[in-house]
Amino acid sequence: MRALIAGNWKMHGLRADIAAIALPLREPAEALVCDLLVCPPATLVEPVAQALAGSRVAVGGQNCHSKAAGAHTGDIAAPMLRDAGATWVILGHSERRADHAETDALVRAKVLAAADAGLTPIVCVGETERERMAGRQTAIVGAHLAGSLPDGFAGVVAYEPIWAIGTGHIPTPADVTAMHAFIRGELVRRFGQGGLSIRILYGGSVKPANAAALLNLPEVGGALVGGSSLKADEFLAVARAVTA
Ligand code: PEP
Repeated sequence: MRALIAGNWKMHGLRADIAAIALPLREPAEALVCDLLVCPPATLVEPVAQALAGSRVAVGGQNCHSKAAGAHTGDIAAPMLRDAGATWVILGHSERRADHAETDALVRAKVLAAADAGLTPIVCVGETERERMAGRQTAIVGAHLAGSLPDGFAGVVAYEPIWAIGTGHIPTPADVTAMHAFIRGELVRRFGQGGLSIRILYGGSVKPANAAALLNLPEVGGALVGGSSLKADEFLAVARAVTA
């Protein structure tokens, strides 16, 4: 199973930035031993997909609605992302859960909508600092997995401790290993053999300086990268840390 390095641009990027952030990924991606994905804001999905057409870099959205169409002002449907050139979508990111009160049930409905539209979902799970301090991290992540993943789930899970996102603080290797082992166990318990082939990404302050250490931990099948995905050289340095 190849590792996946996915970039989440969040609410950053104008058309003028495509030349600096996306285009420099085209050629180097050929030599990488991992899969590369960029998830720009919705307005840039189409131009980024055009800029990367014919390359080995995939393009994804950062969210989609649970319905394929309808009276939902300001939302974006999964078929629209697909139509714009996306093949992936990030769902249930902690910023969406916090800013838009997204529940596990809503995330699960979005996963189904994404799959119907031919998008591969990356479902984010993770605990707050307070929850970790209280020793509740596996209970929280277990609940996210149980509630957010539908039966027959065919996508990727991203473990993102909320306190590590954008802060420069990362969990210890032992903590990442323990959580990824827990997630793998939950996936196998729920999906049987199929649970073995679901990639589990780590996300939260992944940078070139810490990428190799994180990506070589057991059951870490790649990374979801925020800040460092906005600089092509940093994003490529993270991707190059994948060596097998
Ligand atoms: C994220 O946006 O999912 C993320 C992990 O951000 P950062 O890498 O900036 O912590």
